[in-house]
Amino acid sequence: MRDWLRNVYLAAATISAGLYVTLWYFVQSFRRGTFTGHFAYPERAVPIRPRYRGFHRFDLTTCIGCDKCARACPVDCIYIDKEKAPPPAKGFVVTGFKIDYTKCMFCALCVDPCPVDCIFMGSNHDISTYTRDGCVVDYAKLPLTVAWGQATLNPTAVQESKRISLPVWTKTAEPLVGRGQKTEGSNPPPTKPT
Ligand code: SF4
Ligand code: SF4
Repeated sequence: MRDWLRNVYLAAATISAGLYVTLWYFVQSFRRGTFTGHFAYPERAVPIRPRYRGFHRFDLTTCIGCDKCARACPVDCIYIDKEKAPPPAKGFVVTGFKIDYTKCMFCALCVDPCPVDCIFMGSNHDISTYTRDGCVVDYAKLPLTVAWGQATLNPTAVQESKRISLPVWTKTAEPLVGRGQKTEGSNPPPTKPT
């Protein structure tokens, strides 16, 4: 009889403990409101941590086309197109810098090897598209402000960039400073995004 009463007590206590947890979360979510109602996305964006790894920020005007980021990528989702810069400019002209976000896992391993610090993880987290093609972003064809994260990377900007066949900025020769002589280039001096 004593064992039977102890088993009944244990069963009642166990069920009560489980129901208490359920009830506690029910009351908390009732007081806080639903997650979607609380943040009302996209009007009120979800707060993100300072070191959040979102879609990349890329500076075409600084990139030297060295391929180090593409080689460091563990899933091979960075595709760089480049040509030899026309003389007297040196190095390469980056004509395409595509990242396939259907493969990218936001590991940030492409950021550290960059010798000129022109690629970073940004804070954007929304680029919903209707096609997989919209997930392949060519940072060389995006407006510089969008690529550098000063304006939102959005599906409309990505789709517009796919109509553009030439990079939005091309490299010209550096002016020779201090000799009273300048080399000629086809572009005005670039405005580097900050
Ligand atoms: S974040 Fe990682 S997976 Fe994405 S492009 Fe960079 S190295 Fe590749
Ligand atoms: S590592 Fe940096 S400089 Fe080299 S290709 Fe990548 S983004 Fe450009």
